[in-house]
Amino acid sequence: MKTTQITENGWQLTQLGFVNCYLVRESDGFSLIDTALSSGGAKDIIEIARGLGGTIRRIMLTHAHGDHVGGVDALVSALGAGNVELISNARSLPLLQKPPVKALQSGEAAGKIRGSLPGIKSKPTKLVREGELCGVFRCIETPGHIPGHLSFLDERDGTLYAGDALVGFGDLTVSGYAPWYFPLPNFATWNKVVALKSAEKLISFPIQRFACGHGPVIESGHAKLRASLSKANR
Ligand SMILES: [Zn+2]
Repeated sequence: MKTTQITENGWQLTQLGFVNCYLVRESDGFSLIDTALSSGGAKDIIEIARGLGGTIRRIMLTHAHGDHVGGVDALVSALGAGNVELISNARSLPLLQKPPVKALQSGEAAGKIRGSLPGIKSKPTKLVREGELCGVFRCIETPGHIPGHLSFLDERDGTLYAGDALVGFGDLTVSGYAPWYFPLPNFATWNKVVALKSAEKLISFPIQRFACGHGPVIESGHAKLRASLSKANR
């Protein structure tokens, strides 16, 4: 996996050139945000963390799609179930099941829940809520790509780990409005209007940079977020 240091405390790990997960250093070790595509990457991720001088204490999931949860079970078994927290939210649980339950819940906007949902065997050990602080991260609900999608803001340096709420390929775009040369997140998006609303909500947070599930990290403060909103609203 290609490893790129993105901040004092953050590293981007890229699998196959287009799938990112992130190691973020906290006082007790590393939080891992998403887990890449497959169990094959788990050993790499653990070794990279070790090389950076720490152990993975928490696995934080932005959402249940296969390119984000593929490594969960292999990581949990390699690290030892009692040694690592697995963090998600209540809405994601049915989508993380094996097989997943794709029914919409009451009050949710119309649309088909799309994309690969392989499910995981591991049980989340902690379910976060909107606005909750989990370690160094403010947990922000950003549904639209899929119900239950979470973004995590490292409040120490303003890095938003955005999963697929936003896409970083080429330019920053809202999921559902990604460019023609990287349409994958669009194909897998449940409701573009909800995705846009979530992206609008992000304007109220002190964000310096966007670390997305796909594409390089984008350093722009709110400028590129505003540009992506106006592009999507056109
Ligand atoms: Zn993805």
